[in-house]
Amino acid sequence: MQQAPSKNAVIIGGGIAGCTVAYALANRGLSVTLLERNASTASEASGNPQAMLYPRISGDDEASQFALACYLYSLDFLKTLDLSPDALDICGMLQLGFNPRELARIQKVAKLNYPEEIVKYVTADEASTLAGIELTQDALYFKNAAWLNPQHLCQRLTAHKNISTKTLNNVCNILKNNNLFEIYSNEGLIGKSAIVIIANANEAQNLGLNLHLNTQKVRGQVSLLSATEMSQQVKTIICSDGYLSPESHHQHCLGATFSTQNLSGTLNKDDDLSNLDSLKSASTPLFENLKNNITGGRVSFRCSSQDYFPLVGQLLDNTQLTLQPPRPNAKKETLPWINGLYINVAHGSRGFTSAPFCAEFLAQMICNEPISMNAALAGLLNPNRFILRKLGLKKLAKML
Ligand SMILES: Cc1cc2nc3c(=O)[nH]c(=O)nc-3n(C[C@H](O)[C@H](O)[C@H](O)COP(=O)(O)OP(=O)(O)OC[C@H]3O[C@@H](n4cnc5c(N)ncnc54)[C@H](O)[C@@H]3O)c2cc1C
Repeated sequence: MQQAPSKNAVIIGGGIAGCTVAYALANRGLSVTLLERNASTASEASGNPQAMLYPRISGDDEASQFALACYLYSLDFLKTLDLSPDALDICGMLQLGFNPRELARIQKVAKLNYPEEIVKYVTADEASTLAGIELTQDALYFKNAAWLNPQHLCQRLTAHKNISTKTLNNVCNILKNNNLFEIYSNEGLIGKSAIVIIANANEAQNLGLNLHLNTQKVRGQVSLLSATEMSQQVKTIICSDGYLSPESHHQHCLGATFSTQNLSGTLNKDDDLSNLDSLKSASTPLFENLKNNITGGRVSFRCSSQDYFPLVGQLLDNTQLTLQPPRPNAKKETLPWINGLYINVAHGSRGFTSAPFCAEFLAQMICNEPISMNAALAGLLNPNRFILRKLGLKKLAKML
């Protein structure tokens, strides 16, 4: 199924998914070319001024196990990068039980008795002390949750000596010619490589390949607010159905909206109001204090899969798969794998938490190393799962 490691790899897309894979491969000695269509990395979904690093857990289901594994891995990984306090602030996060459903969720998580280093149930009084402002709801406290600056992080990752970043390169086609992929922009051939990793989120469908990804564009807007004397007291990320970051350079990031209907790229006042509503459900005094302080915002598009897990791994030849569907008991080795073609997309709403973990997994796969991720979790990421399920191959859809 996999090929012997090549010395070069090309990655399409310079968001957090592409940059973390580039770094994981570069660390293994591969020479990596990262192709990005914008003038710099972290320009699209990965381009907000502050990104929150945290898990959302509801119990001990697969999604919660995955979220927690990603979170713990990312925290350790980020510590190895020696980022400045301007780029990474391990300030903690409070997830408030702000409505009956959320209260039930946080109480359920509390009963699982995770180590306090990871998550702890706190009363409203304890939450207020931790946050630095008065809060009226009990909460889950993730002591090591953080916000980070995506541009700094992506620059730090791509500064690796084995990575060459080529910006303003909009890939429009990938062709396989013998053992090499040829990568084209509208201007012509950009490069050739035996290993290609598709990490361009919603645009993965537009590379001239027959991919069956079942991903969806989800618009989101963050509102940027100027800090006040009161809001500067906020020490942790405060989360209801949205989040408020502690200030950085006298600015808070308040996010974020979700829409699959409105896909406009321009800022929308209603989205600001919706973000402020979330703040109100976390703290009315803070809402009153900040409601007239919106100074701007940013719109971008998440890429989400139907089951909300990312799509990470080697791709199958869908044309061959549909022309000659394998038997339900087929061995995975007999499937029509495309040697050298990998994908890492659909990080949804928490790419900064999931991307480092998925990048390490993908690099292990590409370099034929033992996979450190639990096999059941790795199976959830199978990038071919939707086509395999459609063909009735449910068991194969869950395999690594
Ligand atoms: C409003 C909002 C708030 C969010 N807040 C958080 C948060 O607080 N914490 C968190 O963890 N996550 C958050 N997310 C989610 C997070 O931003 C995403 O999960 C993550 O950025 C996805 O990274 P990516 O690299 O897959 O995609 P992207 O960052 O979109 O990267 C894809 C890259 O591919 C490039 N590209 C596309 N097509 C081509 C092509 N043909 N050729 C070359 N390059 C191409 C694009 O220019 C882009 O740079 C938020 C998302 C939104 C929308």
